[in-house]
Amino acid sequence: MSALLKKYGNESVVAKAYAFAKNAHKDALRESGDPYFTHCEEVANTVADWQLDEASVAAALLHDVVEDTPVTRADIEKTFGSEIAFLVDGLTKLKTLEYQEHNKDAEVENLRKFVISFTRDLRVVIVKLADRLHNMRTLKFKTKERQERIAWETAEIYAPLAYRLGMQKLSGELEDLAFPHIHPDEYKWLHETVKDSYNSRIKYVKKVEPILLRALGEHNIRPLKVDSRAKRYYSLYRKLRRYDMNLEKIYDLVAIRIIVKTPEECYATLGVVHQLWQPLPGKFKDYIARPKPNGYRSIHTTVFCVDNKVIEIQIRTEKMHEEAEMGIAAHWAYQQVRTRTGYTARSWKGVKNRDELLWVEQLRNWQENFTDQEKFVQSLKVDFFKDRIFVITPDNDVIDLPKGATPVDFAYRIHSDIGDQCVGAKVNEKIVPLDQELHSADVVEIIIHKGKKPTEDWLRFVKTEQARQHIKSAMRTKTKKLQAKNAALFVELKIVGKTREGYLKDIAGVFADMRLTIMSLQGHTDPRKAFTTAFVRCDSLPDAKLTKVLVALKKIAGTREVTYKTGKE
Ligand code: MN
Repeated sequence: MSALLKKYGNESVVAKAYAFAKNAHKDALRESGDPYFTHCEEVANTVADWQLDEASVAAALLHDVVEDTPVTRADIEKTFGSEIAFLVDGLTKLKTLEYQEHNKDAEVENLRKFVISFTRDLRVVIVKLADRLHNMRTLKFKTKERQERIAWETAEIYAPLAYRLGMQKLSGELEDLAFPHIHPDEYKWLHETVKDSYNSRIKYVKKVEPILLRALGEHNIRPLKVDSRAKRYYSLYRKLRRYDMNLEKIYDLVAIRIIVKTPEECYATLGVVHQLWQPLPGKFKDYIARPKPNGYRSIHTTVFCVDNKVIEIQIRTEKMHEEAEMGIAAHWAYQQVRTRTGYTARSWKGVKNRDELLWVEQLRNWQENFTDQEKFVQSLKVDFFKDRIFVITPDNDVIDLPKGATPVDFAYRIHSDIGDQCVGAKVNEKIVPLDQELHSADVVEIIIHKGKKPTEDWLRFVKTEQARQHIKSAMRTKTKKLQAKNAALFVELKIVGKTREGYLKDIAGVFADMRLTIMSLQGHTDPRKAFTTAFVRCDSLPDAKLTKVLVALKKIAGTREVTYKTGKE
């Protein structure tokens, strides 16, 4: 019997969804040759392991039904109600686009639909991540080209998304599954190079542990657990790139992790560690006092340990540990927060580290106002999923931005009006240039001047697509206004010459040659048909250009006289 049915019972909505999905996918097979339904069951098992609610588990079972079988959203709604129907719909690609998987527009549209759904209900993203995890674990059955495409998408979108939701364990696993497909050579090299170092490091940690435990015991600290954590391959690879591929410089290749009962004990433990071994200056990080933007809490310190070897030590409580691994999913397991607005960022007001979910709100607002279809994916990657810094407003709100962001990016993140009218910035109470790179924990204040407009120069240094778009649209309005002002001015030329065939055509030709647009051209011939008078109107011209036009018109065969006047409409 299925573990799901055992856990939730035969009368549950999970059981109902189980039977429904199994029947809908009937004879369909996966590339592996397994019945398609095994995929749905695996995804649901993961969601159940993460201890999400029954609606999420049911949605996991049903997540491919609308996309891959004749069942419609309306059918789901009729059988399971609107809540589950919404979750399933958020996990379903757009029907009309489903056969164009390599179509870039279709991919963007689908991603966009997914973002809309999950910013309304975060359970959508969690089920989607479980889906992606199983697809990555069974990637070997796909063609090489598809493997690569799916792996890149995982590394660039889904793993960072999991990280931002605080699901570090999942994020790390997704990255490690993608790594051999996106950088095969580097993966092989790293695998070979690191093997021995890993083993000797783990042996070393085993030697350190008893010494540590004894010292803690002398201070009446009995940790719940002391173990070691080996850095994941992909995260190690990224770090190595920053350290000239020098493994010696990676102090957290294997880190010691101490789990204690309370936050107070975390600090007491830190004291003991620092008494025992000298800390490396500048390497101490207190993410308990100041959690990372994704909610991560822990103390990290790096010390000169036994045999004077450098090693990183992480100290945290069990709850912090669970949250560090499971992120947002841990909140469900612990708190079961639920309000009438559903599982959205808004309903998290009671949660202590609410700041960590503000970005979901920001993401929702951003996507609602984002109009440049082509830039959507790029912007999503950079503005929301790239390496983050967090800076602080004078009101002590935490704003998160991509690494390398400037005060102008900050200003636009606060509000487009603040960005547009920004004339200066203070960082930690000092005036700084607008292109200065911000760092985590900077307190940033924007100085504005009413009615001021952004300058093109800003495009040179802003990091977020959000700022870029606002600046560009402000520039466009500026140009339009200028054009409107110019359009009101015109020049009217009066040309008198001998009447002949083609005379007006020659006059028009002068303007065409100079790429000037004629607003109107009128010709009059006197009763004796001796002279023709032409009036030509066009947009006002710079003096130099006007002179050229006059000269060219005078050169036309038969021209006697050219005069002009300027006017306003
Ligand atoms: Mn699926």
